Amino acid sequence: MTTLFWLIVFLGTAFSLIYRRVDLRLSTAAMGAVLVAYTLFAGAPPFGLFLLWVLFGGLILLNVEALRRERISAPILGVLRTLLPRLSETERAALEAGTVWWEGELFSGMPDWRQLAKLPPPRLTEAEQAFLDGPTEELCSLADEWEITHELQDMPESLWEFIRENGFFSLIIPKEYGGKGFSSLAVSMVLAKLASHSGTVSTMVGVPNSLGPAELLLHYGTDEQKQRWLPGLASAKEVPCFALTSLHAGSDATGLIDSGVVCRGEFDGEEIIGIRLNWDKRYITLAPVSTVLGLAFKLYDPEHLIGERDEYGITAALIPTNLPGVEIGRRHLPIGIPFQNGPTRGVDVFAPLDCIVGGPEMAGEGWRMLVELLSAGRGIALPSNAVGGAMAAVYATGAYARIRRQFKLPIGAFHGVGEALARMTGYTYIMKAASRVTCAALNEGEKPAVPTAILKYHNTEMSRRVANDAMDIHGGKGVMRGPTNYLATGYASVPISITVEGANILTRNLIIFGQGAIRCHPFVLKEMRAAAEDNPVEGLKAFDRLLFGHLGYGLSNALRSFLLGLTHGRLSNTPATGPVGRFYQHINRFSAAFALASDASMFMVGGELKRKEQLSARLGDILSYLYLASMVLKHHQDQGSPASDVPLVEWSCRTLMFKAQQQLDGLLRNLPNRWIVALLRILIFPRGKTYSPPADRLDQEIASLVINPTTVRDRLCDGIYAAREPGSPLGQLQEALELAEKVKPLEAKLTDARRSGQIGGGALAAQIADARKQGILSAAEAAELQQFDEAVIALLTVDEFAPGELEPNTAK
Ligand SMILES: Cc1cc2nc3c(=O)[nH]c(=O)nc-3n(C[C@H](O)[C@H](O)[C@H](O)COP(=O)(O)OP(=O)(O)OC[C@H]3O[C@@H](n4cnc5c(N)ncnc54)[C@H](O)[C@@H]3O)c2cc1C
Repeated sequence: MTTLFWLIVFLGTAFSLIYRRVDLRLSTAAMGAVLVAYTLFAGAPPFGLFLLWVLFGGLILLNVEALRRERISAPILGVLRTLLPRLSETERAALEAGTVWWEGELFSGMPDWRQLAKLPPPRLTEAEQAFLDGPTEELCSLADEWEITHELQDMPESLWEFIRENGFFSLIIPKEYGGKGFSSLAVSMVLAKLASHSGTVSTMVGVPNSLGPAELLLHYGTDEQKQRWLPGLASAKEVPCFALTSLHAGSDATGLIDSGVVCRGEFDGEEIIGIRLNWDKRYITLAPVSTVLGLAFKLYDPEHLIGERDEYGITAALIPTNLPGVEIGRRHLPIGIPFQNGPTRGVDVFAPLDCIVGGPEMAGEGWRMLVELLSAGRGIALPSNAVGGAMAAVYATGAYARIRRQFKLPIGAFHGVGEALARMTGYTYIMKAASRVTCAALNEGEKPAVPTAILKYHNTEMSRRVANDAMDIHGGKGVMRGPTNYLATGYASVPISITVEGANILTRNLIIFGQGAIRCHPFVLKEMRAAAEDNPVEGLKAFDRLLFGHLGYGLSNALRSFLLGLTHGRLSNTPATGPVGRFYQHINRFSAAFALASDASMFMVGGELKRKEQLSARLGDILSYLYLASMVLKHHQDQGSPASDVPLVEWSCRTLMFKAQQQLDGLLRNLPNRWIVALLRILIFPRGKTYSPPADRLDQEIASLVINPTTVRDRLCDGIYAAREPGSPLGQLQEALELAEKVKPLEAKLTDARRSGQIGGGALAAQIADARKQGILSAAEAAELQQFDEAVIALLTVDEFAPGELEPNTAK
């Protein structure tokens, strides 16, 4: 009995030290104290005690750093040095770009929620709010999507003018250069509002405010270059574009063959050293109308006019499009939304050396600049457009599902439709939460490369699903194109956001975990650096500390994963009480499981993990689901934890945790070593796969929240363009929805009258007239019902065209 007691104390202490990640020295001291107590109180020492002392001796030896380094760390480092692939400069630039933020906590297996709570809730300044309520709202009211997408295949000149005059192209340019100097959050909210009404306008406005000349200049330009270009860009006298992609260089942009050769030439009547450029780019947004081209090319210096090197690699320069040899003007026609996009070519264009962003000393730094900028920028424009589109889709579809009746019921009352509505609503909540909280982090100066890739991929993928559901629920009304169709262009244009700024398959399979595993892992990048250290003594010292830290981390994750799996996370801390508190614990549990699975995968598959994209995609998905669920919890908290939003939080977290579980299971099924996998399965799923997706009851509860005029619906879709005026379909749908609620008692009167045979059936207008005649409805009531009926008919009607009206009027 005594032996059992002491064994429990011994193991309990050991597990608690490992679980809490107490460092090796302190752990050794604590275990020593327990052993001494055991020895003193054990009476006749049992054989087990002797074994424990032997084990403890081993533990003490691990504390002798010199011995540990020589016997353990040095041989492992030797093997590692031969195994580690040499990173190319481009890979290194991508890996080291940006900062590590909340995703680092998720990678740790033991997230410290205080780090997330520290982030202030996102807030707009007065000027930003005024811009959103004023010019942005007005731009939406001026934009006629049918005119843009069908009649003109472009924005009308008046809209271009409005955009230029109101500084829409200068949102990110600081005030000192004449720009608006808006935060990432404000840019995101402006784009989301525009996207809720017109995908074309939001894309046109998004491009100059994301990766492009202004952003390059702000971060890397010389003072002279900033003065030369930024005021013109702010006033939109200059229209920028950014040209990276070409026929042979799409996803692998580093494979570009566009070139610049340093040479002597004549410029403005003088002989100078400059660059002779040749390029052939495609898919470039705004290129057909641009006045300044941000150009990426490979720089060569065969005559060594600027230094000793023959080749400098990818370089970014600003090229005025009026230079001889520049070709712009031709257009591509992107699917769904005809924004300005086209090829650009340059033949022997000669530009002075100071066209290089940052000056000649930044020759060859182009790729680093791009990946660094992308590490923040990727999280703003496309994810915000996706949020705007999704909010609009939910707002419209919820109202439509209420006013559209079939089988004598609003279609939203059918559970099949309710399921799709709940999915749209839940995804929109997740997308908005992720966008708002990540923008708040960007506002605070973070440049988190992995979260922005998560946002780019998941927001655009979720918006694809939302667009599909919206179309399905609208049936023929969504399919028939024309001036009153508010869904078709958004639906058709989904592949655009999927493709740009890192096409989605590549982003999911290669970037999220590929970059995350090295960048956000608490040890891997540091170990790689230690292994590559030129000074072998210092390298070994650093590696030794990291290796033993890493082993402790692995052990702790295994134990935490097992114990939190057994208790459904209940052992772990949660910063919140009430109904959402448990979701923090679920994230804690999966964070430990994810950290363990990542290490095990890297151990088993090694460098091959990069090629085994399906494995790394699953790991990336798990990290993404944990990140998105954390954003949901933080967003809910930032909004004051409204109780009425709890169903959305529950739906989102359940969906994400269920998906994380499925991807963990898929990973375990496909990892190579069955014995290690069997052990991992016990550690990760000690009680089996216990998470389930949201219950049907929750789906229907959420559907009822968006097919009725509720505060949840308003809060979720806050930030869209829904003015109550002609040309604003969302405003009209909301009006009809509110009327539907108001006329409910009148409809009940009609139903009773019909059932009792006082009035006949048929069209609502006939029933209203009949009921009025019978005195069942007062004149005011009849008028109200009639107004509702007319509003519904107007919204259900689809466009029709006379023969000839649809003849191609677009072949300009
Ligand atoms: C509307 C639009 C606007 C654009 N605007 C600009 C712009 O302003 N400036 C600019 O420079 N470029 C622009 N682009 C180009 C855009 O960035 C590229 O289209 C994108 O990088 C993908 O290249 P690609 O189309 O050649 O596809 P590909 O590279 O041919 O890829 C095809 C598919 O293969 C997948 N894939 C490729 N490699 C891998 C891999 N290793 N692992 C997994 N999957 C992989 C991709 O994910 C994709 O699904 C624009 C494109 C579009 C469509």
